[in-house]
Amino acid sequence: MSDTILRYVPADPFWQPTTEQADKAASLLRAMAPLSENVSGHFEDDVRFYDPGENWSGVKCPNCKADVEGWWGEAMDTAFASEFKNLSAEAACCSTTVNLNGLDYVWPAGFGRFALEALNPNMDDTTHKQDQQLAESLGAPLRKIWARY
Ligand SMILES: [Zn+2]
Repeated sequence: MSDTILRYVPADPFWQPTTEQADKAASLLRAMAPLSENVSGHFEDDVRFYDPGENWSGVKCPNCKADVEGWWGEAMDTAFASEFKNLSAEAACCSTTVNLNGLDYVWPAGFGRFALEALNPNMDDTTHKQDQQLAESLGAPLRKIWARY
């Protein structure tokens, strides 16, 4: 049995909500995804990369649209060495400077220090309006990542 996680990560990888904001947003998500096994906010000390697990579909350069998996792994290792405090990287495909959080992840992925998660929500998807309500509740723009493990 694989697990599905509906995960919201702040668009700004360094931003964290207050625990009050996180609790409020978790209550809202619980109401939107009532069949979830668990809904909770997760705070991290350091920035981490939230990949979509089995949904991973590759990553492309936002400037030249090239498949960047050739240099992306090494750039991730370099950024990880700084605990992801510096997410800028030199794109080997077109010699431009890019932000690792701004790459074109074919299936959404992203960096963050906080994630609002619903475990096995047993639903197809949330609506755009619900996504906006969650962002307003938490207090920051969010990136939605459907992950499967
Ligand atoms: Zn490029």
